[in-house]
Amino acid sequence: MNEHTGQVPLLEVRHLRKLFPAKSAFLSREKTYIKAVDDVSFTLMPKETLGVVGESGCGKSTMGRSVLRLIEPTSGEILYKGEDFTKAKEATLRKMRSDMQIIFQDPYASLNPRMTVGEIIAEPLNIQKRYATREETREQVIRVMKVVGLNPKYYNRYPHEFSGGQRQRIGIARAIALSPSLIVCDEPVSALDVSIQSQVLNLLRDLQESMGMAYIFISHNLSVIKHISDRVMVMYLGHVVEMADKKDLFATPCHPYTQALLSAIPVPERHSKRKKILLQGDLPSPANPPSGCIFHTRCFMAADICSVEKPELRDLGNGHFCACHFCGNCAGKETKKESKRNMES
Ligand code: SF4
Repeated sequence: MNEHTGQVPLLEVRHLRKLFPAKSAFLSREKTYIKAVDDVSFTLMPKETLGVVGESGCGKSTMGRSVLRLIEPTSGEILYKGEDFTKAKEATLRKMRSDMQIIFQDPYASLNPRMTVGEIIAEPLNIQKRYATREETREQVIRVMKVVGLNPKYYNRYPHEFSGGQRQRIGIARAIALSPSLIVCDEPVSALDVSIQSQVLNLLRDLQESMGMAYIFISHNLSVIKHISDRVMVMYLGHVVEMADKKDLFATPCHPYTQALLSAIPVPERHSKRKKILLQGDLPSPANPPSGCIFHTRCFMAADICSVEKPELRDLGNGHFCACHFCGNCAGKETKKESKRNMES
């Protein structure tokens, strides 16, 4: 139960970890692991959109896929509608999966070029044996094509005959065919032209309103996240460093990493006084993450304690969480006015 809204979560993720074995040093017997997702916890309410943002390589896509068990998590709990999804056996897993779908980033690579549009959209319906006859399945496919703005006369066409935006509509149609309650949208607009991006985002919002689905919306683009999300989770090197209601996060970013990300959003000329925070160095390797605060090697506010002690993800009130030793009295106050303008622009 969410203590702020009193609602029961659709999804509860607790201490999720995903480690990948890494190549060990020559002649070394020690096994090393890439910590792609490290101790991630969050909840998602029905019909809510949780935006997940961070640089590429921060573990956001691995997290999204682990939540659906497309990649097996190393440890942690995933409760879906109160049921433990991590322990579900094949039959239950299949049933639960029909309620959880994914939209992939690349509409070129994610559609089978040998299948027609009709066959692609019908695939999840056939796997789940949703309808008894071919005719009923075909009717559902045509219904869904209309909902996403695809002309049913394209039923027998192949993916290569479509533009990027239309292919993503095919991917969306496949994801909503079973009327799921949760969709993981993994960078669904980053491969599209900017002119097409807003059409696809608006379609996703309309579908959410009419079908009542919840989204985990993964993107490296904060403008896209700002457009679509209710709440935002900021990830860095496999960890959650800040999580808050969208308005709070954009108006009063607390974590220095979030502040740096927000400062990079382009703003209109009249607000050009805003200072851009440049992060030092590259993203460290997740196989060998920094000690203490994982962000200390690039943080403009780092102090001695930061390389020694790991900051907890603290609740600052109103569902705003931040993992920084100095949250509460951080530079967020200085950037507050700038960020408020950011929200207004
Ligand atoms: Fe920066 Fe230290 Fe806060 Fe980490 S704990 S974000 S290094 S100030």
